[in-house]
Amino acid sequence: MTELRPETRTVHLPQPPLNGSRPIAVPLYQTSGFAFDDPAVFADGMNRPDGAFVYGRLSNPTVRALEEAVAGLEGGAGAVATGSGMGAINSVLLCLLQPGDHLIAQKAIYGGTAAMINDLVARFGIEVTYVPEDDPEALRAAVRPSTKLVYLETIANPVTQVADLPGMCAAAREAGLVSVVDNTFASPVLCRPIEHGADVVVHSTTKYLSGHADVLGGIAVFAGDELYRKVWKYATYLGATADPFAAWLTLRGIQTLPLRMERHCANARELATRLDAHPAVSAVHWPGLPSHPSYALAGKLLPDFGGVFSFDLVGGRAAGERFMSSVRVALLAPSLGGVETLILHPATTSHKSLTAEELARHGIGEGTVRVAVGIEHVEDLWADFAQALS
Ligand SMILES: *Cc1c(COP(=O)(O)O)cnc(C)c1O
Repeated sequence: MTELRPETRTVHLPQPPLNGSRPIAVPLYQTSGFAFDDPAVFADGMNRPDGAFVYGRLSNPTVRALEEAVAGLEGGAGAVATGSGMGAINSVLLCLLQPGDHLIAQKAIYGGTAAMINDLVARFGIEVTYVPEDDPEALRAAVRPSTKLVYLETIANPVTQVADLPGMCAAAREAGLVSVVDNTFASPVLCRPIEHGADVVVHSTTKYLSGHADVLGGIAVFAGDELYRKVWKYATYLGATADPFAAWLTLRGIQTLPLRMERHCANARELATRLDAHPAVSAVHWPGLPSHPSYALAGKLLPDFGGVFSFDLVGGRAAGERFMSSVRVALLAPSLGGVETLILHPATTSHKSLTAEELARHGIGEGTVRVAVGIEHVEDLWADFAQALS
């Protein structure tokens, strides 16, 4: 049989056999630890991520089912599930970087990650150079003897630049650097960065993977076994690993991920296209529109362009604030990737700590509105947006 497609793999999650049958749904193992008959099996389980289940901070069957499911979807050798997306990102960065090291990151990155990098720079003497997400030459030019790591995002927030993953990961590999890609906005349905040369993929599973705005979680997936074991150990020291109930909810969400992504993308396409033609809107940022700077690259890399887009209002900040308080179906809220449409004003919320220069670096204006499109009927969403714009 040929390799199963994501639509089938997410539905048929692998199940360990019980006595002669096996559960259809992944069971929730709500236990903090496990008891042993054999001390040698106990000792072995302490030392690796794929041995006997020992203690909840190290391993749990429900958490491991999630790790195997996402490693399978991303094409990785192994995965470490964490309590949040930041737990995954920090486990990777703190495990791989030490004082005096240099990292190269793309210019527009998630706010929490940017804040963490600033902290590493201020307190641990780590250095960072920011380069455009689609410029392998700039990456090559930024490499120093102390460079260890390249940090990218498949689709960035909120103006949705798409990274040149094949070019950037190849440049990282030539220089002997580990490439880490935050694939939260694309999900493995739209992109599998390991296929493009990434060494590590991180996700906030809070978003599309769980998909219902009811759980926090993260995961790091590794192309190679060595890095997987190293970061697993480090995540267990940090206490960043996932809770079984959160993992269980996330697995439940993953079963409908391909179906949901299809609707998220279709709704985003329709709304982005209509907003682009609206007189109150000066620009729409969605990589599926020919006017987006990433359009050509996105067309080569992605089968569709995700459920997040942003748009700039002609009326600037005042118009942005008016729009925020006028929507009735969409919710004014942080986060993304759930079934409900959420909107926010980056300049006063998610990116409020950025300086004017940093806002410009991210492509965010005073009148920029970020939309994380849900799976509602698109005509209800459009009617809501149209009334809020008038
Ligand atoms: C939300 C998000 C994170 C952080 O994830 P948490 O689950 O909130 O810790 C990281 N990267 C991206 C792209 C995100 O959207």
